[in-house]
Amino acid sequence: MECLQENDLSAERSHKVERIIEHAEQHCKAHGSRLTVKRKQILSDLIRSEKALSAYDLIELYAKEVGSSIPAMSMYRILQFLEDEHLIHKLNLANKYVACAHISCDHSHSVPQFLICGECNKVEEISIPKPTIDALEETVESRGFHLISPQLEMSCVCNDCHIEETQVTVQ
Ligand SMILES: [Zn+2]
Ligand SMILES: [Zn+2]
Ligand SMILES: [Zn+2]
Repeated sequence: MECLQENDLSAERSHKVERIIEHAEQHCKAHGSRLTVKRKQILSDLIRSEKALSAYDLIELYAKEVGSSIPAMSMYRILQFLEDEHLIHKLNLANKYVACAHISCDHSHSVPQFLICGECNKVEEISIPKPTIDALEETVESRGFHLISPQLEMSCVCNDCHIEETQVTVQ
């Protein structure tokens, strides 16, 4: 199955969400863990969102959708579970979470890199070729530092926002 893309039509996307969730369920089963109803709900919220969400955003969403509140401690535990199962990623700088774009992919998953639009907060997961990351790591080491996380979180402006900006300048 193809990677989750940002530009899917919404109807197509919601159908896709279901299939991705199914895939995630199988994935957990194969590991002897279980995607409980709560975990599933939170994972689908993240898959449906184009933006990264904080634990508190997710608590709010959950209350709105399910009608019952979820304590912050439980939310963090669920997020940790989903992260351990490689179903979501944590953006360390923003302290927010995104669904992995490759939940239902068969190809191997390298260290994820993220493009983050500073205007609309849209996040895209990308893979940077390993030689580039290795070169980066070499540079870091040569300066007497050790790279703890090679996960890059890059400040960007997405095409949609960039076009809007240009239009404003033209007027
Ligand atoms: Zn993929
Ligand atoms: Zn991923
Ligand atoms: Zn944008």
